[in-house]
Amino acid sequence: MTNSITRSVIIIGGGWSGLTAATELLKNGYQVSLFESAKQLGGRARCVAFDKHRVDNGQHLLIGAYKNTLSMLKTYDVDMSASLLRTKLTLLVINKNKQTFSLQLGKLPAPLNILFAFLNLKNIPLKDRLKTCGFLIKLRLMQFKLKHDISVKTLLRKQPDIMIKQFWEPLCLAALNTSISDSSAQIFLNVLKDSFTTTPDASDLIIPKVDLATLFVHPAMQYIDQHGGNITLGKKIVKITSDQTSATAIDADGNTYSAEHIVLAGSPSSSINLLKNADLLESSQQLLAQLDYEPICTVYLQYPDNISLPEPMVGLTNCTGQWIFDRRFCQQDGLMAVVISASGDHMQLDKMTLAQIISDELSEIFDWPDADKSFVVREKRATFKSSVNINQYRPGNASSDARIWFSGDYTLSRYPATLEAAVQSGLQCSQQIINQSH
Ligand SMILES: Cc1cc2nc3c(=O)[nH]c(=O)nc-3n(C[C@H](O)[C@H](O)[C@H](O)COP(=O)(O)OP(=O)(O)OC[C@H]3O[C@@H](n4cnc5c(N)ncnc54)[C@H](O)[C@@H]3O)c2cc1C
Repeated sequence: MTNSITRSVIIIGGGWSGLTAATELLKNGYQVSLFESAKQLGGRARCVAFDKHRVDNGQHLLIGAYKNTLSMLKTYDVDMSASLLRTKLTLLVINKNKQTFSLQLGKLPAPLNILFAFLNLKNIPLKDRLKTCGFLIKLRLMQFKLKHDISVKTLLRKQPDIMIKQFWEPLCLAALNTSISDSSAQIFLNVLKDSFTTTPDASDLIIPKVDLATLFVHPAMQYIDQHGGNITLGKKIVKITSDQTSATAIDADGNTYSAEHIVLAGSPSSSINLLKNADLLESSQQLLAQLDYEPICTVYLQYPDNISLPEPMVGLTNCTGQWIFDRRFCQQDGLMAVVISASGDHMQLDKMTLAQIISDELSEIFDWPDADKSFVVREKRATFKSSVNINQYRPGNASSDARIWFSGDYTLSRYPATLEAAVQSGLQCSQQIINQSH
């Protein structure tokens, strides 16, 4: 093996996972070359322009349990208080009849804070509140672990309808981007366990006050640059090869780039294509081909500056829109981001019609005027579908080829497709590469 190849890694894909892997490898003295096919980094968590604003390709929410993501932000020296709005968990959900459901975690230690919050829910009959507390106690006694995976809908079969509609369903859609009938209850329980039973601040809601490029992508780029890493934008890798000592990436013009390892940090489908073109890792291809996808649609609506929500984020039930974020916290007064998770009829509507439907719903609930402007972003493959038993199909970071690795939110994790899963995968992947060299 030549010296230039030893301890060198090519990363294909500049989403949050690839950027994290690059950072960790550089920290450990590796040479890193990252190739991104798009003209910008960030992948599914990137900044886009709307009118005079910088917004994201989809409103993102983090929680206190995202410890790997938060620790990467520290590595990048991000000013947390200037960049993130962090609040104790407060869920305000409103339906079309303007009835509200509000859950607020107090200062008691977990799990008392949760039980107390549920016991004090307004507009929910006492017997339903008690049933939910009993269910939470049961989950805790089971340590949030199921013997066999089932759907979230089956898990909730004894929960009162009102609690399912006003609380569990919006929460599941937001966390797993999959309907309650299809969602893996075990993955849902993993998120609940980490949020509610680890540290008191794990259930905190964290909303970026800046766009996702300013929050993570630019600091990551700067770190990689300052530590001698190489980033090439607009460079699609179309083929890879590997032998005993090295792996090679080939771009559309036939240029070749070799290193000791290649990390596939693109989407599962782009990894399948790369492996197919090279007749490599047939069993990994088959595994990745089992993943299905779900969309996320974000409708940005611009209102006059004085229009605002009672909380930075409000849930909507019996509506097309599911969660609405007041972008006032990003210094974008009057701008609302309405998120619609998972598939549904809204994906068939043209953008103007969809924006009008949402604007009408908000007028009805909040007595707002019609929105002045709208901007609709549809990500058709926003996340993989977190179906029952999905973790059987998520590959580990290592493959059966010692030179080829996987990194991305889709690799095996306790979490659904999230920023945290992507960052955690990047960290684990690089750690395993480092360990293999020792
Ligand atoms: C609209 C939307 C809303 C979301 N909301 C949330 C949220 O609120 N909270 C949360 O935690 N998560 C959320 N997510 C999920 C989160 O954004 C993703 O889990 C995360 O960004 C995935 O990162 P990744 O690096 O694994 O993959 P990606 O971001 O997909 O990165 C892969 C990169 O590889 C590049 N690439 C692919 N093939 C090649 C090739 N052959 N050559 C070179 N480059 C290639 C792609 O262009 C892409 O940039 C949301 C996602 C979307 C789309």
